[in-house]
Amino acid sequence: MITGKNYIGNSLSAKGSVTYKTFNPKANTENEIVYTEATSEEIQEAAHLASEAFKEFRAVSGTKKAAFLNTIADEILALDDELVQTYMSETGLPEGRAKGERGRTIGQLRTFATLVEEGSWVEARIDPAQPDRTPMPRVDLRKMLVPIGPIVVFGASNFPLAYSTAGGDTASALASGCPVIVKSHPMHTGTGELVASAIIKAAEKTGMPNGVFSNLNSSGIEVGQELVKHPKVKGVGFTGSIRGGRALLDLASKRPEPIPVFAEMGSINPVIILPKALEERAHSLAKTYAGSITLGTGQFCTNPGLILGLKSDGLTSFIETLASEIVTIAPQCMLHPNIHNAYSNNKARAQAQKNVQTKANIDDAVTENYAQQAVATVDGMTFLENRTLHEEVFGPFSLVVQCESKAELEQIIANLEGQLTGTVISEQNEASDYDTIINALSDRVGRIIFNGVPTGVEVAPAMLHGGPYPASTDSRFTAVGRDAIKRWVRPFSYQDWPNELLPNELKNHNPLGILRLVNDQETKEAL
Ligand code: NAP
Repeated sequence: MITGKNYIGNSLSAKGSVTYKTFNPKANTENEIVYTEATSEEIQEAAHLASEAFKEFRAVSGTKKAAFLNTIADEILALDDELVQTYMSETGLPEGRAKGERGRTIGQLRTFATLVEEGSWVEARIDPAQPDRTPMPRVDLRKMLVPIGPIVVFGASNFPLAYSTAGGDTASALASGCPVIVKSHPMHTGTGELVASAIIKAAEKTGMPNGVFSNLNSSGIEVGQELVKHPKVKGVGFTGSIRGGRALLDLASKRPEPIPVFAEMGSINPVIILPKALEERAHSLAKTYAGSITLGTGQFCTNPGLILGLKSDGLTSFIETLASEIVTIAPQCMLHPNIHNAYSNNKARAQAQKNVQTKANIDDAVTENYAQQAVATVDGMTFLENRTLHEEVFGPFSLVVQCESKAELEQIIANLEGQLTGTVISEQNEASDYDTIINALSDRVGRIIFNGVPTGVEVAPAMLHGGPYPASTDSRFTAVGRDAIKRWVRPFSYQDWPNELLPNELKNHNPLGILRLVNDQETKEAL
């Protein structure tokens, strides 16, 4: 049952006087439940509890953390229809999407459970002492990854489950041994509270310390900012807009003790369609891309917002078909009136730029909060010179850039901001003639796709979801897949430490049976 309160560790609390409601965009009306924003006192309490919990949680075994994560997954499933209905009422997204995203969330939790139960993820390295080495004896050195401390997680509006309360950031941080304080997203606070209740139940059932998880409500940015500035907070996970992520990064770096902010932000996900591919299959590509641009009402961070090609009959035919196809797709509801307004304004701003031609736009009146999808086109030189056209239009909009030459295309790619993905559409053997362009694209993105669409982010060990700034604040890390855990740890060395006082991961007899690097050799053997 949703209470409208905050979880300060295991306790429900609502000491504040600021209240708000969520909004049902499909019904175009406020939802009934009233949520109470967390007060400064509650923020202090959550941070203090998290810091105390860390003292115990950092040393909890992989097996116990796995039980905790698996129980969270079970408890989320047990929320059943209440969760699905609440999700739908706060997002306008359909039931299939709610269930699909729940499946992804559960899958992520179980993936991290498996990872920490097995245990080798800590990258144990052991260089045993060599007392007889000359001219100097060698000390005994042992290194492993250890958690950094309480993490604040900000979820995104467009993924209330998979990138929010128990999403990838929370699952990976808990798996690493870091307590988590979630700054609940104001657009889906009810969904957030239900998921938080599942996490708290799981924490109690599996004997985790009070404060290992808290969930704080807020209708504005102040609660999040106070959390990021709190001295007991040691890291931040954020999924959202470039403006929001950048503000938090700046805030964190101005603290007396700066802390890492792993922000996954906006992207326009360039797609390059090579000439032979345009010649051979402009029509089918256009149909595929009409689907990708409008998928989830374009509210995906990997939405293809920018399509580039060399001026040709093939490109003209692609643009014409894309334009005629995209208007045949029924307009869909956006997540919130604010997101809808931002989409309409940003789209109109892009369309109003000099030399931009709108090729398709649903002009008919649509239901309130439904998006009017659009496609526009512009020449390469104009795009190169006008940075406004490089900005994300979050929603079902894409800009097709018609380039004069390979040189111009390469220059455009080299001048793009960092992106989550880049896509190359090519006929067989065609891509090898464009290696400098593909190299330029590789330099700008976190993931490069061949003959596909950028939408759809598989949760797998080889996935990289991030990219050069501003796609993310640190391109060396991923927000999706098991390596996401590396954002919340630091390497730590023991020198000449007695065997019995070492953590199990580094003890001579390798009680956990994990893979370790001993004397530069990977092995599961005891020393
Ligand atoms: P958002 O407006 O940036 O909000 C995200 C969260 O951050 C909210 O809880 C928001 O709180 C908070 N926030 C925003 N600005 C803040 C500030 N200056 N100080 C403190 N807190 C702040 O983004 P959104 O609307 O939720 O998500 C849409 C965006 O996310 C799109 O640009 C999309 O491309 C991107 N996205 C990226 C990924 C990825 O993995 N890279 C995935 C999904 C979405 P308030 O709402 O209370 O202001």
